[in-house]
Amino acid sequence: MAKPGVLTPQAEDFPRWYQDVVAKAELADNGPVRGTMVIRPTGYALWERIQREMDDRIKAAGAQNAYFPLFIPQSYLAREAEHVEGFAPELAVVTHAGGKELEEPIVVRPTSETVIGEFMAKWVQSYRDLPLLLNQWANVVRWELRPRVFLRTTEFLWQEGHTAHASREDASAYARRILHEAYQDVIAGVLGIPVVVGCKTVKERFAGAINTMTLESMMRDGKALQMGTSHELGQNFARAFGIEYTSDTGSREHAWTTSWGSTTRMVGALVMAHGDDNGMRVPPNLAPVQVLVMVVKAGDGVAEAAEQLVDDLRAAGVRVALDDRVDTAFGRRAVDAELKGVPVRIEVGPRDLADQKVTLVRRIAGSKTPTELTAVVTAAKAALAEDQDVLYSEALERREKSTVDVATVADAAEAAKTGWARIPWSTLGVEGEAELAKDAVSVRVLTRPDGGVPDGPDEADLTAWVARSY
Ligand code: AMP
Repeated sequence: MAKPGVLTPQAEDFPRWYQDVVAKAELADNGPVRGTMVIRPTGYALWERIQREMDDRIKAAGAQNAYFPLFIPQSYLAREAEHVEGFAPELAVVTHAGGKELEEPIVVRPTSETVIGEFMAKWVQSYRDLPLLLNQWANVVRWELRPRVFLRTTEFLWQEGHTAHASREDASAYARRILHEAYQDVIAGVLGIPVVVGCKTVKERFAGAINTMTLESMMRDGKALQMGTSHELGQNFARAFGIEYTSDTGSREHAWTTSWGSTTRMVGALVMAHGDDNGMRVPPNLAPVQVLVMVVKAGDGVAEAAEQLVDDLRAAGVRVALDDRVDTAFGRRAVDAELKGVPVRIEVGPRDLADQKVTLVRRIAGSKTPTELTAVVTAAKAALAEDQDVLYSEALERREKSTVDVATVADAAEAAKTGWARIPWSTLGVEGEAELAKDAVSVRVLTRPDGGVPDGPDEADLTAWVARSY
């Protein structure tokens, strides 16, 4: 057994480092069924913060939350041919319940386009009912063959948005609005993780979509992770489920639908995009606890000073917690806070306090500074603002350093051993994509020259971003 707090170094074995952090920072445990996970309070607090930030933005974009059932009749999935083909290998199917074999098998939802489509068809009659903008927070099940905690679990938590619109333009604009105003804003602005935003190739597209848009991020080992997706579903699901409306001229039309999802995978992304050999580094905008006030050891007025600091920080709008567990060795508690990536710690001990001082410890900058008690709230707030930007810039710099422009498939495969490659999509093409797949390298995202999000892989002048991925 390794010592508590001692992690496998990233450079030695990145996947093991990741597993060590998940275990030692008490984020999650593996569940009893392969591929499932138990999210521990420390991990769940991160998810709750992500949820809150995402939910606020989804609502600001006009969508409302609802809830649909976990169980879906198997026949529903069969109605959209590409959809059922894409998901069939990942389905968990209930054949027995109540002590009997069921007449029709029931699928545990891998995603909810089908059941939501069925109800959209009931609720949409006229153009006045559109757009219909729904979101749900739920668990879904996909029988993953290579599960990895948070990143790819067989049951995961997510939000899935489902919308119906009167025109293709409206649907397309809304799918993009979520991509930028919800996903990009949370991932870049709150999680501090830079993203490349674009569309997927046909090979990587969601089953049943006409265009899948994605945000891809680089992890600290140079691999890519898909952070979220937003799909234009065209009229495929509207036809399969009869989502029709009467237009303002009286004609009957099929609606245009979208769906979009982001998951507990983002907790894993947070670990792998920012973590170091001492554990997590949680961006201040996300951190459930931004400042931890630690009582070093008991002494005259120490507990009172620490409690006063907690009150002052809370009054200044900081998410703050108190660690006064003086019966546990201070070193152990400090290592634990380091592992969990608490952005700022304020250590309050009898010796410093005698000089009206405390110690400000910054996890991200890695500094330890004696600070006047009267100045520490201001200093802590400044550190939080600064270190949010430091994390983002560091991650962006790493991505830029590890991304190269190449002109051949062979060079793309070579570059993907350690980082990302950019290559004109017209040079690579589907043949090049198939060639790369043999080395487990894929086209993560296609972008326009101006960085905009394409309507699909058929546009001219697209750039393919190529990498290994999780
Ligand atoms: P999809 O519905 O396939 O577009 O997936 C929606 C989002 O879920 C994407 O951002 C994926 O990266 C993420 N995702 C897909 N499968 C899993 C999984 N097994 N565990 C966690 N997240 C996942």
